[in-house]
Amino acid sequence: MTTFDGNAIAGTLNAVFGGEMTTASGTCASCGATELLAQLRVYRDAPGVVARCEHCDAILMVIVEKRGIACVDVSGFAALEEPTQL
Ligand SMILES: [Zn+2]
Repeated sequence: MTTFDGNAIAGTLNAVFGGEMTTASGTCASCGATELLAQLRVYRDAPGVVARCEHCDAILMVIVEKRGIACVDVSGFAALEEPTQL
């Protein structure tokens, strides 16, 4: 299965969260690592989009689109911070 980084779903994240999110940081609820969303390990071939922690492989985020509505599960994050301004 082909993996991508978080930049591959920048457009999806923008549509879901209403802004540029690849520069936002998230903390993994499993291992506690904090990384930019651009660093996520993304699987787009799964049913929907699955984003895993690059450190412990825990599932951090799942995005499924059904009838034009994106359903987002971010329960794998202990924290999700606002994007840094560049
Ligand atoms: Zn982790």
